[in-house]
Amino acid sequence: MSQRRSDQTTDSLEVAVSGGSMGGLFTGIALGRAGHDVTIYEQSTGELRGRGAGIVAQGTVRRFLERRDVAEPAEMTTTASERRFLARDGSVDTTSPDSMVFTSWDAIYRRLRDAVPDERYQTGTEVSAVDPETATAAFADGGERTADLLVAAEGGQSATREQLFPGVEPEFAEYVAWRGVVPEDELPADAVDSFDDTFTFYQGPNMLILAYFIPGDDGSVAPGERRLNWVWYDTLEDRNRTAVFTGADGVERTVTVPPGTLRDSVADRQRARAAALLPPVFTTVVEATRAPFVQAIYDLTVPEMTVDRVCLLGDAAFVARPHTAAGTAKAAGDSVRLAEALERRDSLDSALSTWNDDRTDYGTRLVHRGKRMGDERLDLGS
Ligand SMILES: Cc1cc2nc3c(=O)[nH]c(=O)nc-3n(C[C@H](O)[C@H](O)[C@H](O)COP(=O)(O)OP(=O)(O)OC[C@H]3O[C@@H](n4cnc5c(N)ncnc54)[C@H](O)[C@@H]3O)c2cc1C
Repeated sequence: MSQRRSDQTTDSLEVAVSGGSMGGLFTGIALGRAGHDVTIYEQSTGELRGRGAGIVAQGTVRRFLERRDVAEPAEMTTTASERRFLARDGSVDTTSPDSMVFTSWDAIYRRLRDAVPDERYQTGTEVSAVDPETATAAFADGGERTADLLVAAEGGQSATREQLFPGVEPEFAEYVAWRGVVPEDELPADAVDSFDDTFTFYQGPNMLILAYFIPGDDGSVAPGERRLNWVWYDTLEDRNRTAVFTGADGVERTVTVPPGTLRDSVADRQRARAAALLPPVFTTVVEATRAPFVQAIYDLTVPEMTVDRVCLLGDAAFVARPHTAAGTAKAAGDSVRLAEALERRDSLDSALSTWNDDRTDYGTRLVHRGKRMGDERLDLGS
C-alpha cells in the first residue's frame, strides 16, 4: 500500500512503468535489480521485436548490459576503426582513425526483453491518465494501478507528458532522415569492401548520408551475415510533408513512416534523388534497400522530469537529434541514475529531486548539442 509522499522512504518501492521499449525495459531491469517491485505496461499488443534499424552502441549501453548480465556486448556489436568521408565521385576524401561500436535496436531490445519476466511486462495496456499525487495510473480499458512511483517511458509522443506539461511538444527541425538496412549478401562485393570496418559519410549541399554495418536480422555479427545500415539526412525541399508522411495504408504519421509502409512513389522519388546526388556506392545501397523508411527530425525539451511521484524518462522527456547518437544511451543513463538516486537517498522526495536536477540538466544540454550538430551539417538558414 503506498504511503503519503512526505513519509515515503526509498526501500522496496512499488513502481509502475508506462512504456515497454528501451526506456521502460532499462528502468524495469535497473530498479528491479535494486530490489524494487516493478511492472511495465506497454500499449502495443504484439512484440516490438523485428522493428528498428541501427544504433551506435555507446559505452553507457554496453556497460548496462554487461554489468547486469543481460548480454555480452561483443556478441551483439559490430565495429569500425575509421571514419571516412567520400567525395561526390566516390573517391575517399578524408579518413581519420575512430573506434566505433554499433548494434541494432532489435538486438538490444531482444536482450532487455528476455531479462524481464513475462509477468512483469503487460502488453496491450495503455496508460490513459495519471494522478501524480497518488502515483495512480488509469488504463484505457478502465482499470487502474496505484504504486509508490510512476515512470512514464512513453517516447516522444508521450500522453503523460502532454497531461503534465500541456503545450510542451516535439518541434520539427525542418528536415528528415531517410533510413534503411540492406542484408550484406544482397550488396555487391565492392560495396561491402568499401563499407567494411568504416563509419562512412558523404556530406552534400544541405544533406548528409552515413552508413555502417550492424548485426543481421537474426543478430549474427559474422561477416556475410550482417546488415548495412544507412541514414540520409535531407530536407524535404518542395515536397509536401503530408504526402511524404502518408503511408501506403493512407494513414498520415507525424514521426516515422515505418519500413514497408512508405508509398512506392515516395520511395522512388528518393531513389531518383540518390542517383542524381550521391556518390555511386551510396546510390547502390539506397537502390538495394527493399523497405526504406523515413523519420522526421524533432527537438523536445521538458522543463522538469518529475511532477510529484511521476517521472518522465527517455524520449518522453528529451528528444535530441540523432547526430548525437545518444537516444538509447540517454534512456539507459536516466534509469541507472534513478536507481542510484533511490539507493543513495532515504526519502523518495529527495531522491526524485536529485534525479530531476541531474537528468534535466543533462537532457537540456544534449538537445542543444543536437541542434548545433544538425545546423552544422544541414544549412537550414537558421
Ligand atoms: C519499435 C521501435 C523501433 C525503434 N527503432 C529505433 C532505431 O532503429 N534506431 C534508433 O535510434 N531508435 C529507434 N527507436 C527509438 C528509440 O527506442 C528511442 O529513441 C530511445 O531508445 C528511447 O526510448 P524510449 O523507451 O524512451 O522511447 P520509445 O522507444 O519511443 O518507446 C516508447 C514506448 O512506450 C509505449 N507507449 C507510449 N505511450 C504509452 C502509453 N500511454 N501506455 C503504455 N505504453 C505506451 C510505446 O508503444 C513504445 O513502446 C525505436 C523505437 C521503437 C518503439
